[in-house]
Amino acid sequence: ALQRQQQPEATSSGGGGSGGDNIKVVVRVRPLFPGEAGKGAANVVQVAEDGGSMKVIVPGPGGASLSREFGFHACLGPDTSQAEVLELCGITQLLDAALAGYHVTIFAYGQTGSGKTHTMSGREEAIDDDAYSGADADDGIVTRSVRYLFHQAHTRKDAKYSLKASYVEIYNEGVYDLVHFNKKSLPVKWDAAYGFYVQGLKVVPCGQSRMMMEVIRTGMKHRRVGAHQLNMESSRSHSIMTVYCDATPTDPSSYDYGTVRYGKLSFVDLAGSERVKDSKSEGVMLKETININKSLSVLGKVISTLAENDAAGTTAHVPYRDSKLTKLLMDSLGGSALTLMIACCSPSSLQVEETLSTLLYATRAKNIQNRPTVQYDPREAQISLLRREIELLRQENTLL
Ligand code: ADP
Ligand code: MG
Repeated sequence: ALQRQQQPEATSSGGGGSGGDNIKVVVRVRPLFPGEAGKGAANVVQVAEDGGSMKVIVPGPGGASLSREFGFHACLGPDTSQAEVLELCGITQLLDAALAGYHVTIFAYGQTGSGKTHTMSGREEAIDDDAYSGADADDGIVTRSVRYLFHQAHTRKDAKYSLKASYVEIYNEGVYDLVHFNKKSLPVKWDAAYGFYVQGLKVVPCGQSRMMMEVIRTGMKHRRVGAHQLNMESSRSHSIMTVYCDATPTDPSSYDYGTVRYGKLSFVDLAGSERVKDSKSEGVMLKETININKSLSVLGKVISTLAENDAAGTTAHVPYRDSKLTKLLMDSLGGSALTLMIACCSPSSLQVEETLSTLLYATRAKNIQNRPTVQYDPREAQISLLRREIELLRQENTLL
């Protein structure tokens, strides 16, 4: 159980301000590819002009077509650029929150080929060493975020910032370090003070942004190459790139002077959400299929339970422990964290069922109202409490 301290004046995820915006759900529709159109696919997804809602045309009875409407915090159409994604998703506010000590999760959900990796990481070859050379048009959320974080860390005067990174893959309920890749999976352990963690995972201190870019590139390469070694498809695994933002306040008059804030950002590129056909799967393949379906459904259950608890003011059991993915995201999803879910979908008539299933999943996630709180190390929080008490006693003594 992490010690959580309320800090009402700090930033939240921004947006409407009408409450309930600590989890945001955004849908991004990718363009219809010329190859798809060539195969007779039609565009069946329409995003409203104001970006607040979208329509999906589904075949109805007797050749008629029905239209189903969905509303989200934002609906991003096929013409949305990578730079616009950051703006329309309010990523800067989330990054500022992580620098202020909050835990933030940004995840991409959707069927294989819907644009999850494009949205999160962009093109691997486009990742530039020189973070100050400006973003490549293809750069995704992760590299653009890293640029922003380092720029802030190097220019802000309120605290001394130290940024670190790790990159893991979860495949078939095994956790692999994508920076120091090894075919042997790492155990997930529980610590009463810190919660779940990956034992033996290398967290890389990054003094410069190019070091973090290297972590990202290495991780993406290993996700591709490692998939081969593990004899799997990379679309069947989840990846989590984590940026740790430790901040030591430098202003003696600050309320949290001397207490390190442990902000954290998790960028999650989920396994393809398509229902894998079980008919041909046997042995390892079958186990893999069950595990992917299970972890995504546990994630959905965790999210919907959080939403229900919140709406009804109840405290129903949240099944974080039912999958490795939700164990590792436990401190960053629900409760005290800020969450952004980007549901990616195809506009193609040939994939309309998967698109509907993605939109239903996204709809369920919409209602959670988290209460974000700054994260401190529990032991350090104790020490700073004692320090404050000593100071009070000292003042009393001098008054006597
Ligand atoms: P996923 O990770 O969900 O399997 P990808 O991100 O790999 O899907 O996308 C599949 C293909 O579609 C890639 O070639 C990618 O570059 C392209 N693509 C996805 N989204 C977009 C987009 N919004 N604009 C242009 N190309 C896209
Ligand atoms: Mg992908």
